[in-house]
Amino acid sequence: MDLLNTLVDKGLRRVSPTREEALAVLASSDEDLLDVVAAAGKVRRHWFGRRVKLNYLVNLKSGLCPEDCSYCSQRLGSKAEILKYTWLGPGQATAAAAAGVAGGAKRVCLVASGRGPTDRDVDRVSDTIRAIKEQDGAVEVCACLGLLSDGQAERLRAAGADAYNHNLNTSEATYGDITTTHTYADRVDTVNKAHAAGLSACSGLIAGMGESDGDLVDVVFALRDLDPDSVPVNFLIPMEGTPLAKEWHLTPQRCLRILAMTRFVCPDAEVRIAGGREVHLRTMQPLALHLANSIFLGDYLTSEGQAGHADLEMIADAGFEVEGAAEVTLPEHRAGARGGGCGSPTGADGSAAGGCGPRAGTGDGGTGGCGSHEGGGVCAPAPAARAEEPRTDLVAVRRRGAGTDLAPNA
Ligand code: SF4
Repeated sequence: MDLLNTLVDKGLRRVSPTREEALAVLASSDEDLLDVVAAAGKVRRHWFGRRVKLNYLVNLKSGLCPEDCSYCSQRLGSKAEILKYTWLGPGQATAAAAAGVAGGAKRVCLVASGRGPTDRDVDRVSDTIRAIKEQDGAVEVCACLGLLSDGQAERLRAAGADAYNHNLNTSEATYGDITTTHTYADRVDTVNKAHAAGLSACSGLIAGMGESDGDLVDVVFALRDLDPDSVPVNFLIPMEGTPLAKEWHLTPQRCLRILAMTRFVCPDAEVRIAGGREVHLRTMQPLALHLANSIFLGDYLTSEGQAGHADLEMIADAGFEVEGAAEVTLPEHRAGARGGGCGSPTGADGSAAGGCGPRAGTGDGGTGGCGSHEGGGVCAPAPAARAEEPRTDLVAVRRRGAGTDLAPNA
């Protein structure tokens, strides 16, 4: 396809596709799907080789949020039976982080539900960041605490945070349909605050909320304009007890096209498969590794992922390799651009102290904005169905910790 040759050429040169080209990827046929994956895979390998970065979520504070994000099991009025607890202390968070690092994660994502942190909350999270860095200076720490007020990003950076996550989630035009308690502009503002403070910005989307192809292209182009270092792509887990519980729109093929489009539009950014990987990609997860260079290891915020060892086996079986702590995630031009962005060998002051890729760093992630990394599920046998139709019969979402005394992220 001329289109794919054009997209590969542009991706290798970091030239943006046109909106029409991005829409054509989403509209491509199942017959062309492997060609689309192969083309986007060339771009992925050019910038990231066969490396897969592992990220690990630590849910510092779960549930009881006053905001009304429709996709989120932690929202105001949510009837989802999720774990609810207030702030984990530095010791608990450090122990959870250590488990993820032992499993191969190089980034720990500290997430808290809520509209945004108070200054006291920033103090707490700063203590936790310092404790994690004391335990392992090489681990990247990303904070995901909601909307930031002036000065908070700088304080998190000073405490050792490498990155800050806040997702745009969906297009500006449809944002008000998803959330009413804050605006799209609020989210853009927080991503810009993270950038300005020298934090590596992480910002992505949630697909499967009933949006159009145009909405998906809009949000991915908006992300390109914001220029985050990492772009988590979440696939909506329609959790029972949330307004979007009946929104099953995704197929594995659709997910692959969305990831391919994201790769073409953001060729040199860390594209991360986030919540919903297991539920929606199912047996096609290994194919998605040809598009994304980053995944979460193990569980999500309020739902279970597949077991960590299954993630590691999948990566090896698909011919990829887990990115080591000493390897720089981002391409050189991007890693050095902000002097301290993730994967950079130098800190904000040009010293070797601020980068989060190499072991020398002082040492991010979450996928989406708080609460948007829902995911995980199990498959049960089901009769065949047409590939282009969502298979809700294959999926049972398991809540993290359901029916157990497990500690968070145990
Ligand atoms: S996504 Fe974040 S702000 Fe929105 S309801 Fe969930 S926890 Fe609250």
